Amino acid sequence: MMSNSEQKRVQSVILPPDKVMHKLVSLAKRRGFIFPSSEIYEGLSSCFDYGPLGSELKKNIKELWWNSMTRRHQNIVGIDASIMMNPRVWEASGHVSSFNDPMIDDKTTKRRYRADHLIENHIEKLRRDGKEADTLRVQGTYEAAGGAKDSNRALYELIVAEGIKAQDTGSGDWTEVRQFNLMFQCNMGAVADTASIVYLRPETAQGIFVNFHNVRESSRMKVPFGIAQIGKAFRNEIVKGNFIFRMVEFEQMEMQYFVKPGTQGEAFEAWREERFNWYTNSLGITREKLHWYKHDKLAHYADLAYDIKFEFPFGIEEIEGIHSRTDFDLKQHQEFSGKNMEYIDQLTNERYLPYVVETSAGCDRLFLALLADAYTEDTVDGEERVVLRLSPKVAPVKAAVLPLMKKGGMGEAALKLRDELATDFLVQYDDAGSIGKRYRRQDEIGTPFCITVDHQSLEENTVTVRYRDTAVQERIDISRVREFLGAKLV
Ligand code: ATP
Repeated sequence: MMSNSEQKRVQSVILPPDKVMHKLVSLAKRRGFIFPSSEIYEGLSSCFDYGPLGSELKKNIKELWWNSMTRRHQNIVGIDASIMMNPRVWEASGHVSSFNDPMIDDKTTKRRYRADHLIENHIEKLRRDGKEADTLRVQGTYEAAGGAKDSNRALYELIVAEGIKAQDTGSGDWTEVRQFNLMFQCNMGAVADTASIVYLRPETAQGIFVNFHNVRESSRMKVPFGIAQIGKAFRNEIVKGNFIFRMVEFEQMEMQYFVKPGTQGEAFEAWREERFNWYTNSLGITREKLHWYKHDKLAHYADLAYDIKFEFPFGIEEIEGIHSRTDFDLKQHQEFSGKNMEYIDQLTNERYLPYVVETSAGCDRLFLALLADAYTEDTVDGEERVVLRLSPKVAPVKAAVLPLMKKGGMGEAALKLRDELATDFLVQYDDAGSIGKRYRRQDEIGTPFCITVDHQSLEENTVTVRYRDTAVQERIDISRVREFLGAKLV
């Protein structure tokens, strides 16, 4: 518990949201979280590399997710399927025929947009402006356009009739709408003909569906059970941008939960609650910045879908989808492969195709949400600083060991402590510059604890532990440091 005088030492600074992204991108590059991909060749649109601290933070997110799925639940096991699969998988899943986005170009500005996004933003604006009748009218036309025989033409006509302009340029000199498949194609083998086409997977889920029986049999799983997976997915997105929010190569953390038909509603509600709580309880994300969004327009495979959205500095956007996928995928694979995908209940001898409730989170979007939520500027005793208020569980560096001075035996003692802690935690040793500067360097990368070795340390075998968020310090026995850190990371 902080006393009043301690609280007063740290004064927060209010940041306008439009400034935050710029600051985050710059911090991410400067401190080694995220670099533009192949930067020395001017980069590649929407591709990024995770640097030394970024890869640690990302690893922590994945580990927390993996453990929350596979360790906490006896009936969930993990797999790691290959990125390239038999192309028939994507015919069965519907991705070859319908994993499309409607795109439209502006002839004057040469910019490309998603036609559906233009219309949805327009509807949202009408709603915000309180134009209820117009909102309903445009919404109705939009829904009808989706089901129209020539939906491209119907979307185009709606955009023109409503006089919809691009939000970023104010221009509206539109081409016709065209459908664009988001899957990346490549050719396997020496001959580049249609028979050699393979796809980079656009979602990890299908690797799980096609392995349904392999996993069930090898792990002796009984419905209800889940299969979890973390892996890369690839989408040739028409509209890119917002740093790592929308990438063409990204990582998904997905879990497909197989249930008896008729019980999917109950499973859906249970997963909805568990997934929402994971963000606050395990990752420490601010609850008020998380929102539910129920899909009115459902994907072809779903009978119910919700998104968990986060308040990014550029708007409220999806970080995870929770979908009730019915038996669509297993049924399709059964039909296309000719293999029976049914489950037989050993007790009742019932045979059925299980229904699936899936939780599908994007690791990179979550990474950005964590950075955006944690980024703070404040003053400590009047001195300005940047702090990443990351939860100790996700913070890349758990502690910094700092000798007050390098000489007088403090440097050696700090190095010894660093080496002892390094077997269990990622810790950094730093003796360059004033102690205040070293604290700031650690605050900026989210290190929750700075452990200082001073004169008293050598006499009494104690160190000071400084808490990142409050700048409060306490003295503890050097032999207790490992236990202290361990307790903070549970
Ligand atoms: P959006 O509507 O934003 O394109 P989506 O509904 O297509 O997303 P899903 O297919 O449900 O996304 O994928 C599950 C999760 O994968 C998303 O919640 C998101 O976190 C992540 N994801 C999807 N596309 C991308 C992308 N291009 N870049 C980064 N993450 C992505």
